Amino acid sequence: MLWTPRVALPHRLALLSYLGIDLVDTTEALWRGQQGEIVDATLGVASGPDAPRSCRCPACREMPETPGSEHALHAMLDEMDRIRAVVSAGRLRELVEARLTAEPLLAEILRYADRDLRGLLDERVPVVSSVQRGYVLRESQRRPEVLRFRARLLERYRPPASKRCLLLVPCSKTKPYRSSRSHRRFQRALEGVPNLERVHTVSVTSPLGVVPRELEDTYPARHYDIPVTGEWDEAEREAVRAAVGHLLSKGRYDHTVVHLDPIEYGFLADLFESAPRVTWTATDHRTTSGPALAALRSAVEQAVGGSPPTPGGPLTVVREELAQVAAYQFGAAAAELLFAAPVRLAGRPWFQRLTDGNGTDLATWREPRGLFQLTVAGGRRLAPAHPLEVHLDPNVRLAGDLFAPGVTSADPAIRAGDAVLLVQNGELFGVGEAALPGRLMTELGRGIAVHVRHRARPEAPPTPPTPT
Ligand SMILES: [Zn+2]
Repeated sequence: MLWTPRVALPHRLALLSYLGIDLVDTTEALWRGQQGEIVDATLGVASGPDAPRSCRCPACREMPETPGSEHALHAMLDEMDRIRAVVSAGRLRELVEARLTAEPLLAEILRYADRDLRGLLDERVPVVSSVQRGYVLRESQRRPEVLRFRARLLERYRPPASKRCLLLVPCSKTKPYRSSRSHRRFQRALEGVPNLERVHTVSVTSPLGVVPRELEDTYPARHYDIPVTGEWDEAEREAVRAAVGHLLSKGRYDHTVVHLDPIEYGFLADLFESAPRVTWTATDHRTTSGPALAALRSAVEQAVGGSPPTPGGPLTVVREELAQVAAYQFGAAAAELLFAAPVRLAGRPWFQRLTDGNGTDLATWREPRGLFQLTVAGGRRLAPAHPLEVHLDPNVRLAGDLFAPGVTSADPAIRAGDAVLLVQNGELFGVGEAALPGRLMTELGRGIAVHVRHRARPEAPPTPPTPT
């Protein structure tokens, strides 16, 4: 158990909780109160006649002139309640960042934590979420889900092979981008262009770097908001440059259409020096004006209009895109196995069913989640790559979900929300959704480890009582 004696003050509680401190005390807060200082979760500690007073806690209502230790205790308890609430909403990091302005030391410690505890912090962040998050401060750009998105893009993601033209567009406030007004105008401008499936639409954005269209629904790409001023700081530029460089080096593009303001995005220019046939299409710093949209259409038409039709048609490209979603989710080796044998697609753009060609479901993909859910048949395909495996105690007879005591080992790469394979006695037992990160599945003595979704063999009926 970790205890930080005499460190806690209301404005420090969020960071202490985020760093995993188990036990805090009120000594310092009560002491400060007794000295006539005012402790406040937003402003830190203040004293003197100019100290801001605006508290409605019972102690302050009774004696508005003397803050005292009673107020300090209320301020501590209030902040603790707030922390409990944000923890259950999955938004502790936001509160931590909001408290940084109260004391520079907090920002310093968070900076060290982001650098030195990166693995531990990442472990506690699920891979799916439907919470809309604001990335407001420089510190927000270092949140675990942001670093994870950027890292997976560079390590696991490759542009679909049939894409011949890279089209870079600005991001939009509306998410997913494709539903925004600006992106719908881009789409309308390109309507009817032959071989349009060969165009790879990629949004350039902070803090994620780039978001290829097929990853627009993954977390946090579908769920973020940032202040937009057109001014990029060095860290943001670096993230975008690394990602664009990755696309250009791994893609099979023979054209690049840059539908971005050349002044604002000038920091990308040198990356295109060695890229084949680059056209900038924004006019007068605008991307949605008539002339800009006309330039966009003409550049894309020139890029793909004359290229040969995609072998297998547009569906080939959809399959390639989904294979990249799987690579982002499970790693490239597992994704290759999932898509190696024949795969058929059924469903709608917002709900895809992956089948093996004989009608057996392998996986489903839903827009709001952005990632695949596996079936047992899908799990069997992935199994040789051993991605995200949870090993069950050979003696466990599972009826329902898998609890932590039934787990003997689990892939440390597993995060809450991951689609996992359940293995018992060396065989695929079933598939499910992780409720905990892999390491905690064996460290915790209780709690649900995996929500079991499908089992390889149906549950055995209860044994009838033996007649006596
Ligand atoms: Zn008060």
